[in-house]
Amino acid sequence: MPPRTTLPADVSSTSFARALGELRGVVGAAYVLAEDEQLVPYRKLMIPAAEEDHQPSGAILPASVQHVQGVLSVCNRYKIPVWPISTGRNLGYGSAAPATSGQLILDLKRMDRILEVDPVLCTALVEPGVTYQQLHDYLRDRNIALWLDFPGDGPLVGPLGNTLERGTGSTPYGDHFAECCGMEVVLADGRVLRTGMGSLPRSASWQVFKYGYGPYLDGLFTQSNFAVVTKLGLWLMPAPVAYRTLLVQYPDDQGLAKGVETARPLRLSGTIRNPCRLSNATWMLTAFMRRAELYQGSGPVPDDVILAAARQHGIAPWSLTFTLYGTPEQIAPSLDIATRAFESSGAQIVTDYHDGSQANELNLSSFSLLNWVGGGGLVWLAPVSPARGSDAVRQRDIAKSILSMHGMDYLAAPTVYGRDLHHLTAVLFDHGDPQALERARACFRDLATTFADNGYGLHRVGVDFMDEVARTYGETRRDVNRALKRALDPNGILAPGKSGIHR
Ligand code: ADP
Repeated sequence: MPPRTTLPADVSSTSFARALGELRGVVGAAYVLAEDEQLVPYRKLMIPAAEEDHQPSGAILPASVQHVQGVLSVCNRYKIPVWPISTGRNLGYGSAAPATSGQLILDLKRMDRILEVDPVLCTALVEPGVTYQQLHDYLRDRNIALWLDFPGDGPLVGPLGNTLERGTGSTPYGDHFAECCGMEVVLADGRVLRTGMGSLPRSASWQVFKYGYGPYLDGLFTQSNFAVVTKLGLWLMPAPVAYRTLLVQYPDDQGLAKGVETARPLRLSGTIRNPCRLSNATWMLTAFMRRAELYQGSGPVPDDVILAAARQHGIAPWSLTFTLYGTPEQIAPSLDIATRAFESSGAQIVTDYHDGSQANELNLSSFSLLNWVGGGGLVWLAPVSPARGSDAVRQRDIAKSILSMHGMDYLAAPTVYGRDLHHLTAVLFDHGDPQALERARACFRDLATTFADNGYGLHRVGVDFMDEVARTYGETRRDVNRALKRALDPNGILAPGKSGIHR
C-alpha cells in the first residue's frame, strides 16, 4: 500500500500516524480512511482547479456529536486541520475537497437522522447527512403535507450543507438561510452550543423563534470555519392547495431588462412569492441538445446560431418562470395582475408551464446543463446586483464579453429574489482537457475580478478562489473574520482557508 501523499502542514508522519490511531479509538477503525484509494471520492473536482492543491490527508466519519467532540480533541492536540462536509457534494464549488491540502475530511454523512418533523408548526430538525430526497420520502411516507425547497442538485444534497453555504432554491422558501431556525454546533474546544432559543435548557421554542436573547449568532456559522454544525432547524412550506407555474417569453434581448423591471415590483408586493428566474436561450437549449451538435467552430456559439436552434425548440431569447401558490381564489387575482404586467412589457405568456423545482418535485433535470460541453467541468459564478434592468444588462455585457474572450458560451439564469438579483452563470468545460481547464480557470478569474471592480461581489465561491474573493470584500472584513477565528478556534484546526479565513 503506498503511503499517503499528503500530510497536514507542520505535522510529522509519526505524529500523524499516532493521531490516526487515536482517531480510530474515537470513531472505530473502519471510519478512519487514510489509504490513497479510499480518498478518491474526496479528491474529485468539477471546478477548474488542480487536484494536488486540494488533497485531503484522510477522512474521518463520526456517527455522533460525541464522536465529533472526540475528533476535535485529538485534532487540537496534534494541530491537525479538519474540513467538515455534510452530504459533501458542493457541485461546482469544490465538491468534497478542502480549501488547502493536508486537511482531514470530517465527513458527517453517517449522522443522517431526521430528528423531528412538526406538521403543525411546519418545522424540522435534521442532522448533517440528511438529504433532501430522504426528507422528501419521509414526508411522503407519513402523508405530511409539507413542501421542500432545494437547489438544482436537490436529490443528491442536503438541507444542512446547502443552508450553511447560503444556497438557494425556487419556491417561496428559496432563501435557505432565511428559512432555518436554530443550530447545534460543536465549537473547536468541544463545547456544544445551541443557538437562538436552543441555549435555554428544556427550550420549547428552538425551531420556532430564531433570535433567542443577545446577539444573533447563526450567521457566524454559515460560509465560515468557526464550528462544526451538527443539527439544523428548518422551516418547511405548508403544501399549497393549488399552484400555477407560468413561462414568460420575451422575443428579443430587451427581455432581460424588461423581465427584471417587471418581476421586481411583483416580488416586492408579494404578488409573486417565489424567485423569478430568467434564462437565456443557450441555458434553455441545454435541455435539448449538446453544443457540438450545433456548432463546430472556434469561440462561443454565435448568437444567430443559438437563436435559430432556440426557435426550432420554441425557446425565446429570454424566458422567465415563476409560480403562484395558494387557493384557486388566491391565485386568480395574482394571475391576472402578473399576466397583465408581463404582457404589457412585451412578453408572451404560457400559463400552464411545468417546473418541478418550483413544486416540490425532486429530479436531476438541471444536470442537462453539463451535457452542453461534456467532460464534467463546471464552476458557478453568481455575482449579486440590485434587481434593476440596467444592472442586469451591465452584468450580462461583462459576462458575455469575458466569456467570449476565452472562447466560452454565456449560459445564464439571472434570478430576481427581491431587491437583489443573482446573475447565476455556468462556466462549463471539459475537465479532462488540461487546456480547457486552464482556459476556464483564467476566465473565472477575469470574471470574478471584473465583476468585483464593477461593484458586483460574488456571494459564494469554490474552494480554489476563496482567498481572492475574500480580498475583494476588504481588509476590515478580513480582520474581523480573523479576530473571530482566533477567539473561537485558537489552534486554527477548523477548515483553514474556508471563505478566505485563516488563523
Ligand atoms: P452539499 O452536499 O449540500 O452540496 P456539503 O456537505 O458539500 O453540501 O457542504 C458544503 C460546504 O459547507 C462544505 O464544503 C463545508 O465548507 C461547509 N459545511 C458542510 N457541512 C458543514 C458542517 N456540518 N459544519 C460546518 N461546515 C460545513
